[in-house]
Amino acid sequence: MNGTNINEKTLTKTMSEFTTPPLGDKASMFPLTKMECESELFLQAQSQLDEVAKAMGLEKHLHERLRYPKRAMIVSIPVKMDDNSVKSFVGYRVQHDVTLGPAKGGIRFHPSVNLGEVAALAMLMTWKCALMGLPYGGAKGGINCKPWNLSIGETERLTRRYTSEIINLIGPDKDIPAPDMYTNEQTMAWIMDTYSINVGYTVPSVVTGKPVSIGGSLGRQEATGRGVAYCTRRANKDFLGDISKPSVVVQGFGNVGSITAKMLHEAGYKIIAVSDVFGGIVNKNGIDITKLLEHVKIKGKVEGFANCENISNEALLELECDILIPAALGNQITQDNVTKLKTKLIVEGANGPISPEADSYLAQHNVIVVPDILANAGGVTVSYFEWVQGLMHLLWSEDEVNQRLEQLMDKACDEVFKLSIDNNIRLRMAALQIGVSRLAEAKHLRGLYP
Ligand code: NAD
Repeated sequence: MNGTNINEKTLTKTMSEFTTPPLGDKASMFPLTKMECESELFLQAQSQLDEVAKAMGLEKHLHERLRYPKRAMIVSIPVKMDDNSVKSFVGYRVQHDVTLGPAKGGIRFHPSVNLGEVAALAMLMTWKCALMGLPYGGAKGGINCKPWNLSIGETERLTRRYTSEIINLIGPDKDIPAPDMYTNEQTMAWIMDTYSINVGYTVPSVVTGKPVSIGGSLGRQEATGRGVAYCTRRANKDFLGDISKPSVVVQGFGNVGSITAKMLHEAGYKIIAVSDVFGGIVNKNGIDITKLLEHVKIKGKVEGFANCENISNEALLELECDILIPAALGNQITQDNVTKLKTKLIVEGANGPISPEADSYLAQHNVIVVPDILANAGGVTVSYFEWVQGLMHLLWSEDEVNQRLEQLMDKACDEVFKLSIDNNIRLRMAALQIGVSRLAEAKHLRGLYP
């Protein structure tokens, strides 16, 4: 869709051809065509579901329904730029499933955003919410743009117009957005304000991840990184024999990467390399993350930090370390670089950072992978706490939030690790099986209308 004119005909065509090769026979009601939805990430999400459906003997009609989103919206977003020109952007909101409750999922601003990426991430959200036992379905949204080229005013107008274009889809009982790549608390505040002005009263629970002063939850901003750090410590203990001061490499130093690095640093782990979009830094003796955070606040990037050497993002992934945490983009570890990795444990802070081929290779070579739907579920879990507090007018302390988060992460880790060990399957397959089976049970109980 990038750079093309969006008109009704193009949209209809896109949606009717929203498909990938079906289940290998005539079962699919969707035509077999190739469109932008066939992004790497969407095919990856589908192939994961196919694998787990086969392993657990999921009924064909449920399998087929779950391979596609429940609904998807593509919107054109005209924005007045600072030079008074008007530029149109393309935005998406996809709800993969709403069986267990309202749809829930982040909104990202990035040039990689397209229908396939958003649909894949919405599917992952369905499994993640079901795995964590949250009363939500899965959704995702995004705008195809280069957020780093937009002024604050342009970003605000883009966000507000996008919100008004998808306003019929979202709502505290329907679909609740949250931050993701290149969106943050401020973005959520603009969405909440735009929605509230349109309905005529303040509706804090239409988004999560908003600032605490307008109904956000204490602990939300750190929640994803806190959860990633928690899973890392659990996996070190359960699978690596509790290595003391393990060496850690973190790709991405945004919300998830920086908080994860900070928490692990505080727990005595040795963070030997980190990176952001501009490049990485390495110090085999360990990086002082507290000081690095101050450096990034001033310089806007990790490069140039004292006592570190620069390293490219590609080389960073190949460093020898005990634990590797990709916390930036999808599809970072693929068949092109997986053979060069030198790590024992990978904890997926980002969504979909490992391709299916690379995942199989890692399994064959006994590298433990804690999958995204477990590792980064801390964010949606505390989003749920924020939503509940908003709906019930409750105010929980940060300690209360962190304690509840730890309880749910602990329970999910117990369930996934146990199923993986008992059935001798990868952690990813165990996590997906738990999520998919909860959804299948709910679909059975609710039945099919009409
Ligand atoms: P963010 O925008 O705060 O940070 C992204 C980081 O990645 C930045 O440091 C950026 O410079 C870096 N980056 C971008 N391109 C890169 C590249 N090519 N190589 C290396 N680094 C690069 O985003 P975030 O919220 O931290 O999200 C990161 C990942 O975590 C995404 O995959 C997102 O979907 C996932 N995630 C986020 C949350 C959340 O609550 N924020 C929850 C679950 C999953």
